[in-house]
Amino acid sequence: MIHVEKLAKRYGDVTVLSDISTHIARGEVISVIGPSGTGKSTFLRCLNLLEEPSAGSISIDGIDALAPGADVPRLRQKMNMVFQSFNLFAHLCVLDNLTLAPIRLKGMSRAEAEAKSLDLLRMVGLSARAHAFPDELSGGQKQRVAIARCLAMEPEVILFDEPTSALDPTMVSEVLSVIRRLAREGMTMIIVTHEMDFARDVSNRVFYMDEGLIYEEGTPEQIFGNPQRPRTRAFINRVRSYGHRIATADFDPYAMNAEIEAFCEKHLLSHDTRHNLLLLTEEVLQLHMPSIGKGEIGITVDYAEKTGELSLTVDSPAGVGNVLETGAAEDDFALLLVRNYARRIDYHVADGRGLLELAVKRA
Ligand code: ADP
Ligand code: MG
Repeated sequence: MIHVEKLAKRYGDVTVLSDISTHIARGEVISVIGPSGTGKSTFLRCLNLLEEPSAGSISIDGIDALAPGADVPRLRQKMNMVFQSFNLFAHLCVLDNLTLAPIRLKGMSRAEAEAKSLDLLRMVGLSARAHAFPDELSGGQKQRVAIARCLAMEPEVILFDEPTSALDPTMVSEVLSVIRRLAREGMTMIIVTHEMDFARDVSNRVFYMDEGLIYEEGTPEQIFGNPQRPRTRAFINRVRSYGHRIATADFDPYAMNAEIEAFCEKHLLSHDTRHNLLLLTEEVLQLHMPSIGKGEIGITVDYAEKTGELSLTVDSPAGVGNVLETGAAEDDFALLLVRNYARRIDYHVADGRGLLELAVKRA
């Protein structure tokens, strides 16, 4: 139904979408997830022709949406959008919000438009508020009105851009229930959302967006249960990171330790866990110091909120090798300490850097 090929969007020299290709079939429910600023809204806005792509093609039911002379209003009716901030007309009552576009754009009679709108308001549970103004409604009610208004145009696809992000937590579920119902009824939808449980059970496919791409896609089971690529894993496991680069032997270890302590405090890691991490950091750095002349050393602390896993990674020029094995460690005591505070130790080389990864024992 929707074919997107090599879609790109740049603002000046900032590339927001670099190369998006995907096919979406009728009846699919796609969740789009990813960190903020990765172009999820831009992607939807390009699909809806609110933004002009810099390159690539979009076709809907075989119609080239970007062709000169394409019937943009007609395409927008086919593919209607629901926004985070509702975008209701404040000066119109709920019913008039719904009937406006069908009367103006579809040439529907007022009587027919009103009858149909009342049906839709009933479907979203708000027929009693037909004559209220948007100001008199709660956020959840406003968003349900916005969904009904979108449906009044009889779209074939609905694009949702974070439909619950502007809502009070208590109102999220009433909006999600309406979207779930549409999914059950077979509506084709693309939903940008941060509600992971919802994405998991409403969609048949999940797109994880990052680096201007659909970086990884799969079924909800694949993306949430067994993501394959590093950025997807970090996002799904809610990995928080701290990093520090060390270029010379006379860096300030106290400043770095203080930052690591602050990181641990922020993520509510126990006193003993922090102690293990600091000890490990100090020891592995010690083991790397003789090699500092060969190039910069980086340390990264990753804490996965979802799994509770805490890891320390030291990256160094590949030529340094694994300091736990090269015997650079004359200091057996240091080695013993490292083995004692790390639950798992792994060393591998990637892109010319040696990565020593230590899973820190949690206490
Ligand atoms: P997301 O929805 O994933 O948070 P957006 O699509 O809103 O991301 O934005 C992606 C990037 O594009 C952001 O860095 C944002 O600053 C930039 N961007 C969005 N719209 C414009 C614009 N009109 N002009 C310049 N940059 C923009
Ligand atoms: Mg957005």
